Formats: sequence, structure tokens, C-alpha cells
Amino acid sequence: MKGYPLGVRRRLKACPTTARTALLFLSAALLPAQTLQQAETLWQQHRMLEANETFKALCDREIPQDAACKVRWGRMYLEYGHSDDAFKLFDEALAIDKNQAGAVLGEALLAADRFDGNAPALARRALELDPRLLEAQELLARLALEDNDNARAAEEAQKALAMDSNSMAAKAVLASMDLLAGKPESPFDPHTARGYETIGHFFMLNRRYEDSIGFYRKAVELDPQLWPARAELGIDLMRMGRNAEALRQLELCWENHFQSKAAANSLRLLESFDKKFVTFATPRTILRFDRKEGEFLRPYFQSEMERVLSVYEKKYKIGLAHPVQVEVYPDHEDFAVRALGMPGFGALGVTFGYTIAMDSPSGRPPGHFHWASTLWHEMSHVFTLAMTDSHVPRWFTEGIAVYEETSVNPEWGDRLGPEELAAIRERQLLPVASLDRGFIHPARPQQVPVSYFQAGRICGYITKRWGWDAILAMLHDYAQGADTPTVIRQELKLDPAEFDRQFLAALEAEVKPTLDHLDEWKKSARELADMAPKAAQSKDRAAIEKAIQLGRSIEDWYPEYVEDGSVYESLAALYLARGGRDAAIGELWRYVRAGGRSPAQIKLLAANLVESGRVKEAAEALDRLNYIYPMDPEQHQKLGGLWLDQGNAAGAIREYQAVLARNPLDPAQAHYDLARAYRSNRQEDLARNEVLAALEIAPGFRPAQKLLLELN
Ligand SMILES: [Zn+2]
Repeated sequence: MKGYPLGVRRRLKACPTTARTALLFLSAALLPAQTLQQAETLWQQHRMLEANETFKALCDREIPQDAACKVRWGRMYLEYGHSDDAFKLFDEALAIDKNQAGAVLGEALLAADRFDGNAPALARRALELDPRLLEAQELLARLALEDNDNARAAEEAQKALAMDSNSMAAKAVLASMDLLAGKPESPFDPHTARGYETIGHFFMLNRRYEDSIGFYRKAVELDPQLWPARAELGIDLMRMGRNAEALRQLELCWENHFQSKAAANSLRLLESFDKKFVTFATPRTILRFDRKEGEFLRPYFQSEMERVLSVYEKKYKIGLAHPVQVEVYPDHEDFAVRALGMPGFGALGVTFGYTIAMDSPSGRPPGHFHWASTLWHEMSHVFTLAMTDSHVPRWFTEGIAVYEETSVNPEWGDRLGPEELAAIRERQLLPVASLDRGFIHPARPQQVPVSYFQAGRICGYITKRWGWDAILAMLHDYAQGADTPTVIRQELKLDPAEFDRQFLAALEAEVKPTLDHLDEWKKSARELADMAPKAAQSKDRAAIEKAIQLGRSIEDWYPEYVEDGSVYESLAALYLARGGRDAAIGELWRYVRAGGRSPAQIKLLAANLVESGRVKEAAEALDRLNYIYPMDPEQHQKLGGLWLDQGNAAGAIREYQAVLARNPLDPAQAHYDLARAYRSNRQEDLARNEVLAALEIAPGFRPAQKLLLELN
């Protein structure tokens, strides 16, 4: 590993470079006076290190109060991907002159790179400060198109062209619209490297990675030293799993001082990938896991992949042309790198064509992540992207994916949370025609999850009212290049504004009982969460009864609340303290069916079911954990035992294999258990192997000796 530093070098120091350059540093330091023109020329000649030294001498020492100097220096850093350094310089420039338009523009460009919702406001402010600042106007056009607001993007681009009829960035925005809409050629074709870089960017945002790669290639053919375009090319190649070429492109950028965080992280990941990951391929699936957990997780992912493929092929009425690759990352940072450059991406998984990257269940706190729900979500993207040749808009592919989470199982998927309720109450949901903005340029961070929720509910609403075929028809319209207002009018026979009105009315009616009592519920739920553990511990009958009354009185107000301190949890603890096991079991089942996924609560439910002799239900409860947090060997051992007793030999085999793959504390017992499961499945040879393995570890293990005799 090379150790790619992050957030680097405001003052590029002792860079690993040639002796000749080092000499040049020396001579540069001896030069009496530097001019901004010299720095600009060196920068244009791609002599970044020398340009940097010249800027440093000039902007730090000779004219330290010159804001414009710092802005130009910052812009060079920006172009080389050193965004932290660029930000500092723009900040310093603004400290000298808060109305420095170029510095405000610099911050707008940085915000745009981060898909920060502030970018348009910053660009507009820069334009106010300097109405001739073409780049600010060009940025407004780009930002509008990133929101898929074509009308506004065209208007902003025309304004830029009115300022300068040669505006390459404005032409590139207009050309992107034509090309994205399926026109083979555009009168605005920029025919320049930077123009194709912009078009590549828009195809990337629309998840049309192959086209995006093509445009970035055109850009670097025209200008091999356009490092930002080459880096994006490398990252796109990585997304599509072409790791060897991705590595070459990114290394070339790095060696030439383009050192963005994205490039650094991608290089680190690419270099470690083959060492760290193990691959299991079947004709329809390619599963890649970290070596440490591949053997263990594979059976769970494999069977879920087979299930989701057969369900979706029927549901979406298409077969997939290629196997789907799923990469499972135990280190969330590695996963985040794979998702680079994706605005407002769902933090758990991401799909590129036929490749899915997602968190491993081991990479998240137990109970905070439902990996199977995420897998079904991402797999639906594979289908909707394939069906529309990636022409589906962001809100719709996400909406369908969210809808699928609860469609496969009502317990899966995210619940109606306080953020969503607040957004409904404050009427902050976006019109369907501009819902993409909530994903790409959220006005506030919570707008991203709220937009996922809204899109999911819209798809649920459409399915309920018009049927699933309406969703398929909409996908086919998008595939033909139609936009959202057209698709809504065509398939739902409603104006988009009327659709919004009817959808919101239905949603508001649905959440009304919760909204009506929300404030009261919050207060009482907090009181209960505080009171219940104390009452349960004290065994004080009166205190327990009082807490139970409180819990029951508020339980139905917000049934979807299953997070920490839920009413279900409190009531279950109180019932148990009162000796009411059946009531506690009932409460915990309600919790699970409402979408509760705390492993502790699910294990509590299973333990009480076993105590009550309801072993079939206990196995059902424990099996849920396999889809939420399968990392705990004890749970597999228990579930294996329950299934073996109930005659589910195949299930028991999978669970005991999982125990063995997790380095059990008692490996002899684990081999012996697996032997019993094999025997029950009439796989005597495999059973014998496992018994022998048990006896090899513990030769005096009596039950294993006995089983071996029986097998012989
Ligand atoms: Zn998604």
C-alpha cells in the first residue's frame, strides 16, 4: 500500500519528485520578484509544483493582502483536487475582502463538487457581486441540470451564452440535455476536452456509466493532461468493476499531482481489493466478500440472491443479460469509496449497472441495518436501470426500491420516523415533478431520507390505486425518454400538480392519527421509557401497573416507532416483571411485526417462546436475525438446535455451518452438531467427516464416539 495522504498540502512540501524540480524550487526561491502571470503560465503548462512555489512566494510573502492572488492560487488547488487547501485560500481571500466575487465563486464550485444545496445561492451571490462573472452563470446552468430541471438549465445556459457566445460550459450543458434525451448529435457539441468532461459528468449522474466513460475518454484524448476528467474516468471504471484500468488511470493522475480525496480513497481501495476480497461465482451471481467473512456470509446472500432474482424476473417481466455482482464491505469507509461522487446516495448500498456495493452486516451496529432489505432495494435498481437503459429518474428508481423493501416483507424497510412526520406536518414534501432535487441538491441534510420516504410512498400509492402495471408502464415511458410530468399525465391521467394534491391528501389521512397525538406521544413515551425500567426492577406492583396503563394508553398513537425506548420494549419488560410471559411475548411479536429489529429484543422473544414450549415460533423469531445481524454464533447454534428438533435438517445444516465458520469457542461440539444435522438429512458421508473432525479435536467426546458407532 502506498499510503495516499488525505486533505493534503496547503504548502506542497518535499514532494517525491525529480531532482530537477527540486533545483527549480531552489532557484524559484532565489528569484527577486514573482508575478501572477508567471504563476498562471506555469499552471497552464501543468508545472504544478513550480506554479505552487510561485504562488506561495507571491500570495504569502509579496502581496499577502491581495485577495485576487489567493483566489487564483485556490483555483489551481481546486483543479488539482486539493479541495481543503482551496477552501482555506478562498476563505483567506474573503477575510481580506468579503465581496471578492472570485472567492465566492470558488466556494460555490467547491459546494457544487460536494452536491451541497448551498451551491446555487453562492453562485448567485458571486454573480451579484460581479455580473460579468461568466463562470458563475455557467455553474447555475450546470446545477439546474443536475436537478434534472431542463427548462431552467436551458434558460441559465442561454444567459451564459448571451454573456459570451463561446461559453463552452453552457454549450456542454445544452449538449448534455440533447444527448441524455437520446438525440445522437447536438448542435451544441462543444468539441473540447472540458466540454466532454461536463457531458461525462451528466451521464455519470444519470447512472449511464458506459456513456459517461465514453465521454471522459473523449475528453482525455483531446487533452491528456485534463486530470479531473481522467480521475473521473478512473472512478467510473472502478464503479463498473474494471479495476486494472481504473488503477492505471488514477495512478497517472496521482503522479501528476491530481490528488483529490476521491482519487486517494479509490487508489487505496483498488490496491487492497484483490488481497482482501474473495469471490464466489455462479452463472447468475458474483458475490465478493472480505476474506474474513466470505465463507460465513455466502450461504445467506446466495439464497437471498436466488430468491430476489426469481421474484423480480417475474415482477419486472425481464431477464437480466449478465450476472449481478454484489460486493459486501465490512469497512464502511471502503464502501463509501465505491459510492464516490454519488450525490445523496443511500448510505447502505449503491448500484452501478450490474454491480452492487453494500455494507456488510458486520460493518454496522447490530440492529441498525437490515442487509436483506438493502439487497432487495439495490437489486430493484438493477432491474429498473436495465429496463430503462438507465433512463429512469433518480426519484423513481429510489421510490420503487424503497417500495420493494416492504413489498417483499412488511416488517422490512424503514419506518415512518420523526423527520418524515415533521416534513409532512410542515408541508415540506417536494412536488413529484421536482422530487429529484431532494436527492441531488437537498436544501437540508434531512431532505435526503425524507425524499426516499416520499418517493417510496408515491410508488406505494401508485401501486395501490393504479396497480403494479402502472409502475411498469411508467418505466417503459422513461425508457423512451419521457420526463416525469409527461409520464404522470400519460399513465395516471392526472396533471402532476393534481397528482401531488391527491397523494398528499392520502398520505396525510394515513398519518393523521400519529400526527394528531405526536407531541403528547413524545412526552408520554419519554416518561414511560424513564419509568418502565425502574418499575420493572423495583417489582413494585402499583408502579408496574401504572407504567403499563401509561404504555397502553399511547401504544396505538405511533405504532411505527420501533427505535430505542419504544413503547413495545417498555411494555414487554413490565409484563415480564409482573410474571406475564404470554403478554410479554404478545408485545414483542407486535414489536417485531411493526418492524422492530433490535437483536436483544428478538432474542428475548425467542428465549421466552422456548420457555413457553412454543419452539416453532422461537425458530421463526430467531430466523429473522439472519436477515438483520447474522454475526452472532450463539444465535446460529440455538436456531440450528431448534430446527434439528423440528426436522428442518437443511436449515439446521446451514446454521451449524455458520457456527463453524465463525471460529466457535467449542469446535468439537460444533462439528458434532453439524454431523447430527447431516445425519438427519441422510448425508451419512458428510456426517462421518464431521464426527471425525470433532473426535480429532476431542478424542474422548462421548456423544461423538457414540454417533460414529451408529454411523458405521
Ligand atoms: Zn437506492
